[in-house]
Amino acid sequence: MKQQGAIVWLTGLSSVGKTTIANGVAQELQKQNYQTELLDGDIVRTHLSQELGFSKQDRDINVRRIGFVANLLSRNGIIAIVAAISPYRAVRDELKKTTNNFIEIYVHAPLAVCESRDVKGLYALARDGKIKNFTGISDPYEAPLNPDIICQTDKFTVEQCVNQVLDYLEYLGIIFSENNLFASI
Ligand code: ADP
Repeated sequence: MKQQGAIVWLTGLSSVGKTTIANGVAQELQKQNYQTELLDGDIVRTHLSQELGFSKQDRDINVRRIGFVANLLSRNGIIAIVAAISPYRAVRDELKKTTNNFIEIYVHAPLAVCESRDVKGLYALARDGKIKNFTGISDPYEAPLNPDIICQTDKFTVEQCVNQVLDYLEYLGIIFSENNLFASI
């Protein structure tokens, strides 16, 4: 049976847990022999969007590029997992309409929690005014109004959030649980 592709799009503030959940989901899918590819915002910026900055216009171009690549993968039967702040609602909604099996996952925790984690030390720099246009501090984040699921990373563990995503993929019929493999044949 041919695998069904999808775009698992994780949006949310810096340090909220997008990369952590994306890695966990990718690992679990690989373990179950699903073909998957991870598109992490930071890595994409290094390779595909080096020239872009953090204005609204540049962020939208970056998100459209990620969406374009994710869609190539998804329509060829691969589960593309995207971890990108992607702060603007309109461009996410545009991708939802124009790509194959776009699943919007809002990764959420209060700003204070994200800031206290400050995985890359960027919130401190933003508070000091050393980084401009920092999402949540000096740049907007437009939360999804109608996400497919919400992962609340201040209330649930990494494992619970990863399972929440996997359960949703199973609910959609994109994957089949290992216990339930025969249901897919
Ligand atoms: P982002 O990719 O959104 O910038 P990261 O995944 O790099 O964020 O960092 C999130 C941090 O929060 C990690 O240190 C991770 O261990 C921690 N964390 C705590 N609880 C969770 C959770 N439920 N889901 C994801 N990350 C969590």
